[in-house]
Amino acid sequence: MTQETEEQQDFVKELTKMSDDFDRWYTDVIRKAEMADWSGVRGMMVVRPYGWAMWEAIQRAFDDMIKESGHENWAFPLLIPREYLMKEAEHIEGFAPEVAWVTKAGGSMEELEEPLAVRPTSETIIGAIIKRYIQSHRDLPKLTNQWNSVVRWEMRSRLFLRSREFWWQEGHTFHASAQEAIDEAQLILGYYRSIAEDWLAVPVLVGKKSPAETFPGAVHTLTLEGLMRDGLALQMGTSHYFGQNFARAYDIAFSNKDNERELCYSTSWGISTRLVGSLVMAHGDDSGLIVPPRVAPIQVVVVPIFRDEEGRTKVQRFIDGWARELKAAGIRHRVDWRDERPGDKYAHWELKGVPIRLNVGPRDADAGNVEMVDRLTRQKVSVPVTGLAVRLTDELEAFQRKLFERAQAFQRVNTSELGTLDEVVAHFREHGGFVWTEWCGDTDEEAKIKTEAGGVTIRTIDSDSQPSGKCLVCGRPARHRVALAKAY
Ligand SMILES: [Zn+2]
Repeated sequence: MTQETEEQQDFVKELTKMSDDFDRWYTDVIRKAEMADWSGVRGMMVVRPYGWAMWEAIQRAFDDMIKESGHENWAFPLLIPREYLMKEAEHIEGFAPEVAWVTKAGGSMEELEEPLAVRPTSETIIGAIIKRYIQSHRDLPKLTNQWNSVVRWEMRSRLFLRSREFWWQEGHTFHASAQEAIDEAQLILGYYRSIAEDWLAVPVLVGKKSPAETFPGAVHTLTLEGLMRDGLALQMGTSHYFGQNFARAYDIAFSNKDNERELCYSTSWGISTRLVGSLVMAHGDDSGLIVPPRVAPIQVVVVPIFRDEEGRTKVQRFIDGWARELKAAGIRHRVDWRDERPGDKYAHWELKGVPIRLNVGPRDADAGNVEMVDRLTRQKVSVPVTGLAVRLTDELEAFQRKLFERAQAFQRVNTSELGTLDEVVAHFREHGGFVWTEWCGDTDEEAKIKTEAGGVTIRTIDSDSQPSGKCLVCGRPARHRVALAKAY
């Protein structure tokens, strides 16, 4: 064993092993990789530059998608008058336990006349305002989105997955027909699927939520569900169709082509910084993160290796010769000149999950080569610097694909098909993962599954397939094919 490998293993020892304690591993990785940290406010997190850059990559990708289909960004206040919040009964009932209120303000802490809610989501304030901008069918559709943060007073917190404040986008759209709004919710689900699969390399199940899991006030909720390496599912985004529920509560109406007054149909949809947590849990290993190249803040790291000043000068000149080429090719790279030993640098970048590392010493400089190591296979390959940018672009694409295929294989191995509640209970006593089964649609039975199978819930209903068998609980003819899992 070389000295470098020993140092690397020493460093990795500080990290809890994923197989020993997944929860601690998760928190260790996020903090050591400098992605996020807890703040002075209980349950509220600081997203550090390395984690925020991943969120920015997601933001850019999704923002491009929605702009392409005619959506516009805007901004609403952080605080919501109580009367706005109270108008949609089912909605407020769903959110009431998690709302934080501002009741005092000013130097002398004067009591406000009416408490103001810190937005848990903005349907209510947008609903109350947008009716000013909608009069005629010619004003529709209104396709809007805002990038912001919201506050939900959660009692249990986990970095990125559940925190009292999180960052997200909330889309809100208003339409002249039910079909158009239904199509909109579906269109966004497709974008979300692309973010999860094409950008984060996390394969997802997509479909409808069961009535018990539907967003408060929605007619239906579409969802995407990924599988994490501990076998738990993670809801990675939701898209809601409201019918006329919000339009009725907030009186959002328009005059249609026959000059009759009609209520709008609306949708809302969101993805959040939780997605950054998903890539940690879906791809990481005992050495740390593995970041998909498309969202990686650093795609390629260069580690110069030298013993003396002469070696350093030689290596530096060599690297300067081709580093500009990488930049021109749009490859996000960094040369690590920090005053650390190479072995420590290797471990550092492994922990941070940088997809490709290039080791460059004086002998490589003489030969016109670099040593390339990828974070997935850890194989070392000598690569000529001629045509390096093209080679790296190909390698990064291949890395992205391999990461997705690995996650797909994991999902396949951890997905079963079962027929009865007894089988489901027995399965989840030993395993995680997804279980496909068939269900009659009875809500009491849905609650029964949750109680008997230790918190297992219906993650999604597959709307494309027609069940032919019996309900797993009551044995009557099934109406839905559903995926069950324990979830975050
Ligand atoms: Zn049943």
